[in-house]
Amino acid sequence: MTNGVSSMFPLTILGSEVFPSSMSTNSAPGLALPEKSASTVATGPSPEFLSELQAVSETLETASPWEILQWTVDRFGSGFSVATAFGAEGMLIIHWLARIAPQTKIFNLDTGYQFPETLAMVDRVRARYGIQIELVRPELSVEQYEQANGGPVYTLNPDQCCKDRKLGPLRRRLQGVSAWASAIRRDQTPDRAVAPIVAWDRKFGLVKVSPLANWTKKQVWQTIVHENVPYNPLHDQGYPSVGCMPCTRCVLAGEDERSGRWAGSKKTECGLHSSD
Ligand code: SF4
Repeated sequence: MTNGVSSMFPLTILGSEVFPSSMSTNSAPGLALPEKSASTVATGPSPEFLSELQAVSETLETASPWEILQWTVDRFGSGFSVATAFGAEGMLIIHWLARIAPQTKIFNLDTGYQFPETLAMVDRVRARYGIQIELVRPELSVEQYEQANGGPVYTLNPDQCCKDRKLGPLRRRLQGVSAWASAIRRDQTPDRAVAPIVAWDRKFGLVKVSPLANWTKKQVWQTIVHENVPYNPLHDQGYPSVGCMPCTRCVLAGEDERSGRWAGSKKTECGLHSSD
């Protein structure tokens, strides 16, 4: 994509230009992309590549999320894919990509345990943006999986369940992908507080971009309301963070926004965005 970004818009968010004319996304430093192979997954790319990623990440610290997405699209083209769970932040990424690069491949990890309201977002995204979301499923249906394990795995071993129903399918889906985006914000959890804008994702062996790392919950929701972005109706019913049905509950007033995920256990992440 060329840098005809300013002329493609203007789109305004909260009164400011989404792509200010002063922003040249072509100024992003070029990187020598490593071949994705078993060795880059195992040992990572060269130190030079890592330091270039770090430099880009620092440069993008002051960029807006849509500028970061534009850089990512310019840099990785069709090698860029997005996983979405249709959270508020993820919906913004879809909203911006619909304008920047609607051809970007976007997928959802359909564990078989998602809320119907979450799955309904597939049709809502298609209706609003004309974007088809790919559903990435585990090899076994829920019925087969539970039968093979003597019942639901999420009750006794949610880490194993996330590994089987999310991480495995994600790993397969990311084969051949050079970069992916996460919708995490630094103010969500202590783990996420240190998330760089751009970094090498050792776990999956590709570049990970977090365009909303610097944004707050307030900014996210102001933009959703202002831009009339579709969102999961469960957010209005006490679910600020929506995961699988068996592992998500409503949060009470004053509770942390992710406290409804795996409530009552020490688990806080499904493993997509943690390094272990
Ligand atoms: S969130 Fe719960 S149901 Fe979904 S994959 Fe993880 S453990 Fe299984």
